[in-house]
Order: sequence, then structure tokens, then C-alpha cells
Amino acid sequence: MYVGKNYIIIIFEGDFYVSFLSYYVNFLLFIEVVSLKKLNQAVKSIKRAAHITVFTGAGISVESGIPPFRGENGLWQKYDPYFLNIEYFINNPKKSWRLNKKIFYDLLENRKPNNAHKVIAGMEKQGLIKAVITQNIDNLHQKAGSKNVYEFHGTYKELKCMKCGKIIEYKKELLKSLPPICNQCGDLLKPNYIFFGEGIPQKAYSSSVKETEKSDLFIVIGTTGEVQPASLIPFMAHKKGATIIEINIKSSNFTSQITDIFLNGKASKVLKQIYEKLNS
Ligand SMILES: [Zn+2]
Repeated sequence: MYVGKNYIIIIFEGDFYVSFLSYYVNFLLFIEVVSLKKLNQAVKSIKRAAHITVFTGAGISVESGIPPFRGENGLWQKYDPYFLNIEYFINNPKKSWRLNKKIFYDLLENRKPNNAHKVIAGMEKQGLIKAVITQNIDNLHQKAGSKNVYEFHGTYKELKCMKCGKIIEYKKELLKSLPPICNQCGDLLKPNYIFFGEGIPQKAYSSSVKETEKSDLFIVIGTTGEVQPASLIPFMAHKKGATIIEINIKSSNFTSQITDIFLNGKASKVLKQIYEKLNS
């Protein structure tokens, strides 16, 4: 920044530009100090907390090469999500499966967890984080080593029989011929993530609520809070008196309403900073 300041002084040689620029430089330094202060505040809260739950959304997996659903460059800019309608799936299983395979299975099976997933798993191992509630279906928290994960919208890693309810772990061979069929009753298998028109998986929902109610610190990461009922979970935590830390690249529906400490930035970068401070 100092180099930039000199550079401009040489070009303009004017007092106005000098004072404008030093004002600007001071402003940038001020922002840095503020975010450092917030980071320290967050670390202090984490050290003090008895029950920390993490709540994640699509934003945490973007750095693993998985596009979010909404927003610029989101999946719904490219694809019409009609194939995720449960009625459509029941009536057109082969067509729906073809798109589910192309858009989700082919993409997700090779994705790797990034530093954000890894730090969360590391903090669970240290006993700092008790549970992860995720809206993602990508299995990356588990791949990173997290154990206590509640998948609010289900997972791509399992297929579920529409008739007998048998759950089968996903393997590439299962999708060689579409649609896949249950080996127990011969009925249709469906990805075990929720489609439009379906409810939240009962166990994931009740466990998420239970963890949320126990939390005195709740960390919201990479989610804009646009999808209900998932977005109600952080509000529930706030209502129960938990401190809310939010890590997002821009402010969300939570920021002005319930967030106590807003850490602006990419999840992997911010979490790495937190982890280093916790372990220094
Ligand atoms: Zn079956």
C-alpha cells in the first residue's frame, strides 16, 4: 500500500491527491484492524464456549469446485431444476436420473474437501466442535474427517428404495443402467437427498434442532439463509441465546438480524486464521 502511495504522489504532485490517498490508506488499515479485532473476538468466544455447532451451506464447498445452486454462476443459472421435482421423478425416473447423474453424481464423487472442511474436522477432533449441520449433499465434511454430521437435505452417497425404504450406499456401478433398481424388492431407487415436494429427513431435522438448542456458540458458514426451513436453524440458536459467528463472502439474511461477529471472507481463509490462533 505504501508503494502505491508514493507512486501516486510522483504522478500528481498535488496536495489534494496526497491527502486523499493517505485518507484511503488509513481507511484500508482501519478495515484490517477491525477484522483482526473481530477475529480475536471470535477466537475468544470459541475458547470460552461449551457447546459449539457449525452450520454450513453451499459456500463452503465452492472452493472444492462445487458450484452453488443460487446466485451468479449457480447451477440454476445453467439448469432448470424441474428434474428435482418429486412428481417428475416418479413419472420420469430415467430422465430425472440421467440429469441427477450428470449434474450431481459425476461431479461429486471426485471432489475433495478443502481447508475449511479440514479445519472443522480438526476442531471436532480437539473437542471444540460438537456437531456439524450441513445443507450440502456432497459428503465433504465426512471426507474431511468430521464424525457428528447432520445432513439436513440428505446425501448423494446413498440411494433409497421408493417402496421398501432400503438404503444402499452409492457405487458407480449402480448407475450404469438407469434408473437403478432395489435389489431387495425391485422397485425404483432415488438419490437420498430431498427433492422439491419432499420434507426434511426426520432424524436429521430432530437431531439438528437438538444440537442447536444445546449450543452456546453457533458458527454459520457459507450460506445466505435463503432456503427454508434450513435457514430457520440459526435463528433458533439465536433465540436460545447462542452467540452467532458468521463467515461469509458477503452479508446475508443473518448478518443484520442475528449475527454477533461477522467475519467477512472465504471460509477456508478465515477458518485457517482461526485455527492458527487457537493452536498458537
Ligand atoms: Zn426395495
